[in-house]
Formats: sequence, structure tokens, C-alpha cells
Amino acid sequence: ARKIIGLTGGIGSGKTTVARFIEELGFPVYYSDDRAKTIVNDNEELKVKIKDLLGEHAYDESGVYDRKYVAEMVFNNGDLLQKLNEIIHPAVRIDFEEWVKRQPQYMVFKETALLFELKLNLQCYRSVLVTAEDNIRIKRVMDRDGKTYREVQAVMEKQMPEKDKIKLADCVIYNNTNLEDLKEQTEKIIFGIE
Ligand code: ATP
Repeated sequence: ARKIIGLTGGIGSGKTTVARFIEELGFPVYYSDDRAKTIVNDNEELKVKIKDLLGEHAYDESGVYDRKYVAEMVFNNGDLLQKLNEIIHPAVRIDFEEWVKRQPQYMVFKETALLFELKLNLQCYRSVLVTAEDNIRIKRVMDRDGKTYREVQAVMEKQMPEKDKIKLADCVIYNNTNLEDLKEQTEKIIFGIE
């Protein structure tokens, strides 16, 4: 692939929905978060590093990454979380680079919630941000995950403010109405990338 497009958005923005539309259009999408979840179990080198940092209990008896245990460990320990991320993020980057090489399409997409936070946009040809009003996003996540208003709001408050992301993004999709509108905006933007 010659062009890598970063696709991002905060919680409940609709970035996964947009990614599905993009796949329907025939372009491959790399889902960074999903891949990270796989890699922590598949990549032996990474497993060793994680165990060195967090201890053997980062993996359960059957050798599967214990997401819940790790989350509890790094919760309120920003230093440890940073160290964990410094191990996982480069592994995801390498996995992505290998994936890109296997894609024959001229354009591919990298879906990640942390595109701007990790400055991954600098390695992309263009960045696409999906955004929507806070209340709409909260409502959608409440419906999707059965979470409370406060719970979703707490996650949202920890993410980079939308106004900062809008400034950094090359293209912005405003997902405030329905799925038809979202699909139409997605198509316009994707086929408008030169
Ligand atoms: P997260 O970061 O939390 O995983 P996301 O950005 O990937 O969220 P989606 O999962 O794509 O967001 O969308 C959140 C929820 O809102 C989903 O249940 C999705 O089906 C729904 N949704 C997204 N856009 C619309 C829309 N325009 N109209 C109705 N429902 C929508």
C-alpha cells in the first residue's frame, strides 16, 4: 500500500462504524486495539517483557493475558501504565508495518483511538477524525455497553479534547445524525483523498 490513512475518534464517536463502511468500500482496515489484544498473547518476546514488568500473574494459569488483573494493577499507577504502553505500542507498530506490506490496495486505514495522542498521525498520509456531540456519544455508548452516563463521561474526560483533535485532523466526519449520513460522509472523504 502506498497511502496509510489514520482513522480515529473518541469513545462512542463511531470510528468502528466508519471503519466497517471503509471495508465495504474495499479498503483494508487495521484495528490497532484488537491487534494489541491478540499480540499480548501471541508474541513471545512481548510476553516475556510484560511478565518482567508486571510479574507472572499478568498471565493466568492457562497462559492467557489477564486483562482484568493488569487493568487493576496499572489503574492509578500512571508510571506503570506508561511502562506497559512503552512495551506494547512498539510491538503494535511493528505488527502494523508487517500487515501493511501484505495489503495490495493502494490505500489502507489504521484505526486507533490514540492517533494524535501517540503522534501516529505523523506517520500517516492523512488523518480522519470521527466526532459527535458529547451527549450523543454518551447516549450511544450507554445503549451499546449498558454503562451509566457517569461511567462514559469519566472515560471521555480522560481523552484528548475534541477541539484539539479537530485542529489536528486533516478530515473530520461529524456523526451527529444517522447511519446513512455517516456512510455518505465517509464515502465523500475516502474518495476525496488524493
Ligand atoms: P469506542 O471507542 O467506544 O469503541 P467507536 O468510536 O468505535 O467507540 P462505534 O462503536 O462505531 O464507536 O459507535 C458507538 C455506537 O453508536 C455503536 O453501537 C454504533 O452502532 C452506534 N452508532 C454510531 N454511529 C451512529 C449513528 N450515526 N446513528 C446511530 N447509531 C450510531
